[in-house]
Amino acid sequence: MGKPTGFIEFNRETEPYRDPAVRMVDFKEIYTPHNQAHLEQQGARCMDCGVPFCQSINGCPVYNLIPEWNDLIYNGRWHEALDRLHSTNNFPEFTGRVCPAPCEGACVLGITDPAVTIKNIECAIIDRGFDEGWVKPRSRAQDTGKKVAVVGSGPCGLAAAEQLNTAGHSVTVYERADRLGGLLMYGIPNMKLDKDVVERRIQLMRDAGIEFIVNADVGRSIDPAKLIADNDAVLLATGATMARDLPIPGREATGVHLAMEFLTANTKSLLDSGLEDNSYISAKDKNVIVIGGGDTGTDCIGTSLRHGCKSLVNFELLPQPPISRADNNPWPLWPRIYRVDYGHAEAAERFGSDPRVFSIMSKEFLKDAEGRLTGVVTVNVDSQLKEIPGSEKTWEADLILLSMGFLQPEHYINESLGMEVDGRGNFSASKENYRTSVTKVYAAADCRRGQDLVVRAINEGREAAREIDRDLMGNTRLP
Ligand SMILES: Cc1cc2nc3c(=O)[nH]c(=O)nc-3n(C[C@H](O)[C@H](O)[C@H](O)COP(=O)(O)OP(=O)(O)OC[C@H]3O[C@@H](n4cnc5c(N)ncnc54)[C@H](O)[C@@H]3O)c2cc1C
Ligand code: SF4
Repeated sequence: MGKPTGFIEFNRETEPYRDPAVRMVDFKEIYTPHNQAHLEQQGARCMDCGVPFCQSINGCPVYNLIPEWNDLIYNGRWHEALDRLHSTNNFPEFTGRVCPAPCEGACVLGITDPAVTIKNIECAIIDRGFDEGWVKPRSRAQDTGKKVAVVGSGPCGLAAAEQLNTAGHSVTVYERADRLGGLLMYGIPNMKLDKDVVERRIQLMRDAGIEFIVNADVGRSIDPAKLIADNDAVLLATGATMARDLPIPGREATGVHLAMEFLTANTKSLLDSGLEDNSYISAKDKNVIVIGGGDTGTDCIGTSLRHGCKSLVNFELLPQPPISRADNNPWPLWPRIYRVDYGHAEAAERFGSDPRVFSIMSKEFLKDAEGRLTGVVTVNVDSQLKEIPGSEKTWEADLILLSMGFLQPEHYINESLGMEVDGRGNFSASKENYRTSVTKVYAAADCRRGQDLVVRAINEGREAAREIDRDLMGNTRLP
C-alpha cells in the first residue's frame, strides 16, 4: 500500500477531457495528456483492501491487479506496473480509453468516498509504456505445430490470437472488413479511440508472428468447412452485428439510418480521405434526432456535432436515472445513475442544454412527397412504458439515427455449418469451454453472449484461447 493515509489526504480528481468547445470541431481524442505526478497521488488513494472488490467478479472483468499497480505507480515503479497490467489485460490502451470502469463502481473506497481513478491510472501506465518503448511484441516461446483460425478481429479475436500465439500455435485472423479491429476500428469513433492506437497494437501482433487477412468474409468468400479442415481449431469472434430496428410507419423514409451505417461510413471516410470523399452520411446543417442511448447513441451525438448539425435531440425510452445509487442498486454493483458522457457535454456546450429527452416513444416517421424524412411523431410514456394520452408531439428532423442496441450475430456461418444457436440467436457455446455444437469450432464474446463491453470481449478471448489450448495440447498454461 503506497500511502496509508492517501485516501484521507487526497480527493478524487479525474483527468479532464479537452474543452468541449475546442474538441468538438475535430476528430482527435477527447483526452488531455497524462500528468504523472497527479496520477501517482491518485494511486495513493488506493487502500489496498483485504478483499479488493475492484478486481472481483463485480469489478474488473479481466481481473486486473489494481491495488498492485496503484501501489507500484505511487512508488514511481511504472515499468513493473506495466508488467502487472499486461499479465491480465492484453490491451490496456483500449480499456484505459473506452471502458466504463465497473472496477470504480466496485471500489471499496466508493462506499464512503469517491472511488480511486483506476481507469485513468491504467491508461497512463500503458501510454507511458509505449512512450518509453517498453511494449514489445509477445513472441512464441515454442512451436506446437498446431494451426488456429480466428474469425473476426475485434477485441475478442485479437486477445485470443495473442494468447494462442504465445502458447506456440500458428494463428491466422480472418476479417471481412477492409481494416482490422472490429468495433475498435469501425464502431467506436476516433475521438474516443484514435485508430493509430488500434493499428499500433495490431502491428506488434504482426511482428509477433500472427497473420491477418482482411476482406476475408468467412461464410461468403471463404468456405467455413474448408477453414475447419485446414486448421486444428476455429474460433468465431464475429460480434453481435445485427442491430435492433424500429419498424414504425415511415421507416423507409430517406434520412432514417441505423447508427452503425452512420458511424462506420464516417470513420472509413475519415481514414480514407479526411472526409473529403463524401462517402459518408453527413449531419451538416441537419436537424438530427438520435433514438436510443448508450455508447452508440453518444457516439452518434459526438459525430453529428463534429459534422456541424443544426440541432440535436436524443430520445430515451426509459425514465431519467437517479443522480445517486437507488436502494435496489447498492455497492459493489455497477451504479445505474445519471451520467453526462462526452457527447452530452458537447451538445450542451453547443446548444445550451443536455440533448436527452427521457420517457419518450417514437410512433411514426414523417416524410415529404419525395420520401424524404421531415420529422417524427412521439408520445410520452410512464415508467411501465404505458403511453400517456394527450402527450403526442411532432419533432422536425432531417436525419434520424437508430441506436437501440444489437440483437445477435449474423447467421450465415452457423447456417452453413449446421451449428446450434441459443434462444436469443447467439452462437451456442458454454462459458466453461467455449465449444460450439460443431467439432473444432469455438465461439466467444458478443457473438456468444450478445453485445457487451470491450473489456468483456478481451476476457472471453483470453478464456477461449485457454480452452482451445487445453483441447489441443491436453493441458494449458494460459491464464
Ligand atoms: C458504436 C459503439 C460504441 C461502443 N462503445 C463502447 C465503449 O465505449 N466501451 C466499451 O467497452 N464497449 C463499447 N462498445 C461495445 C464493444 O465495442 C463490443 O462489445 C466489442 O467490440 C465486442 O468485441 P467482439 O470482438 O466480440 O466483436 P466486434 O468488435 O464486433 O468484432 C467482430 C468482428 O468480426 C468481423 N466479422 C463478422 N463476421 C465475419 C465473417 N463472417 N468473416 C470475417 N469477419 C467477420 C466483423 O467485421 C468485426 O470486425 C461499443 C459498441 C458500439 C457499436
Ligand atoms: S479494464 Fe475496465 S474494469 Fe478493468 S481496470 Fe480497466 S477500467 Fe477498470
